[in-house]
Amino acid sequence: MPELPEVETVKTYVYERVLHKKIKNIKVLDKKLRWPIDTKKIGNTKSKTIKLVTRRGKYILLQFDEPMLTIVIHLGMTGIIYFRKISEYKKRKHDHLVLYFDEYVLVYNDVRKFGSIHVTNEPSNMFLLKGLGPEPMSEGFNTDYLFDKANRRTCSVKELIMNQKVVVGIGNIYAAEALFLSKIHPSSSANKISKKKYEILVKNIKQVLSKAISMGGSTIKDFVNAEGKPGYFTQELLVYKKKYCPIHKKNLISNIKISGRSSFFCDKCQKL
Ligand SMILES: [Zn+2]
Repeated sequence: MPELPEVETVKTYVYERVLHKKIKNIKVLDKKLRWPIDTKKIGNTKSKTIKLVTRRGKYILLQFDEPMLTIVIHLGMTGIIYFRKISEYKKRKHDHLVLYFDEYVLVYNDVRKFGSIHVTNEPSNMFLLKGLGPEPMSEGFNTDYLFDKANRRTCSVKELIMNQKVVVGIGNIYAAEALFLSKIHPSSSANKISKKKYEILVKNIKQVLSKAISMGGSTIKDFVNAEGKPGYFTQELLVYKKKYCPIHKKNLISNIKISGRSSFFCDKCQKL
């Protein structure tokens, strides 16, 4: 499943190809996604020029020259975006949407159909985007902010940092990595962790994500060439799905369920 660094990489990939380009035609090949694609609304973007490509959490936003008109894309579990020259494009299985530009097409392909494509005139108020917490790489996500949010919650720290209303874009993989680096047990109650520990955790979240984003940039070619497969690159990870702790070499990594999600940690590094 694409996490924030992967989505950031896809965003950059799309940005470099569609900025200031006009949509000449649109084909909805299969509107069945997590929510059906609104054929009429997506049609409103025809003949419009893309003036900005941004990311909010795990959503990619294509913004148009018409004020506020925005396509909001979520890649779900297996969504990918690829480009083809118009003359070379042949419909493939699981292609859902095709945007035609001058010389090439942008295609959204999604095998498992958990992704979504919406069109809105009011992105800040759109149901998927409003209420989202700050970006983890932004200044708004800091120790004071997270400590304050934690104090009001009795959930586990892992659930806290994966709550999109608290902070966006931290999924299962990077939650595990950041907690390991911070020596915090994933089940620790959010309101029982010291401010000092939250300072370390915030620093590690930012570090883990920025490292993953920079690595994502270097492997973009593999992603692009992933012919129909969700070819998301694998990062160098420390605990997620690992067998042994990189510090305590013979200590097996534990795997417990928190909110139904596998949670990997080292019981020597991360004590309750
Ligand atoms: Zn360890």
